[in-house]
Amino acid sequence: MIKFPDTNLDNIVELRGIDQSYDGGKSYIIKDLDFLVENKPDRGQFVCILGMSGSGKSTLLRYIAGLQEPTAADKLLVNQKPLSKDNRVSMVFQQYSSLPWMSVLDNVGLALKFKGIDKKERDEKAMEMIEIMGLAGHEHKYAQYPTLSGGQLQRVAIGRSLLANSNILLMDEPFGALDVKTRLQMQDLVLGIFEKLHPTIIFVTHDISEAVYLADDIYILKSAPSHFAEHIHVDLPLHRDRNTKRDPRFIELVHEVEDRMVAVAEL
Ligand code: ADP
Ligand code: MG
Repeated sequence: MIKFPDTNLDNIVELRGIDQSYDGGKSYIIKDLDFLVENKPDRGQFVCILGMSGSGKSTLLRYIAGLQEPTAADKLLVNQKPLSKDNRVSMVFQQYSSLPWMSVLDNVGLALKFKGIDKKERDEKAMEMIEIMGLAGHEHKYAQYPTLSGGQLQRVAIGRSLLANSNILLMDEPFGALDVKTRLQMQDLVLGIFEKLHPTIIFVTHDISEAVYLADDIYILKSAPSHFAEHIHVDLPLHRDRNTKRDPRFIELVHEVEDRMVAVAEL
């Protein structure tokens, strides 16, 4: 089990002593789980979570997004505060989570509407984000398939999430349903956003090479009951692009992560 030592650092996400039971405490899916992600304001932090299916990856993101409460927790802080209506983090799912009866512009600006920001300012901010997402020219289209492609719909979801809270982005296997080419483009889009806006990104995937390509740090979740069993720091250059995948260190890391995943599954 990896330890997340107490620090005085500014932690963007801090989970301590998390337990999850669905049968009134007879069995635990998650037991005494800790997870800590530091805040690095001018740099951001890209964390990938890997783990077998059913190991609790989505559950963890749901806690952080405030969509689910654990059975018990010693601590569950986001931005050093307990989750509440005013301290929410939105999430990008594998399934397109845009509102298909609204335009791209209204989808991206949705959180600002809930915050009571007037339409003019909302549209301005949403338009800036739409440009960052490479969706300019599509702002008045409905956010639905096939008006927009799968990749474009994920861009809408990411833009909406970032406008809702720019310092943290939760992504649960966001590219799992995309074809290979679109998936590679989306990986580079997310890296571009990371370099430009420096958010903390917590990204769940079951694709090892995707995790190595994107992450600063990879955590492997072991199931039954779940806790983090391995941490791999990805010592590749900060800037990643297609050439990174040809770097011998990249290939070494993919093998290392794979070996550790197999070992964790066999423990
Ligand atoms: P992952 O995203 O890693 O595939 P999940 O977080 O979705 O895993 O689920 C973790 C475990 O919790 C799984 O074994 C799943 O069956 C179980 N689980 C999730 N929701 C419920 C529920 N409402 N009742 C019982 N078991 C659940
Ligand atoms: Mg899941």
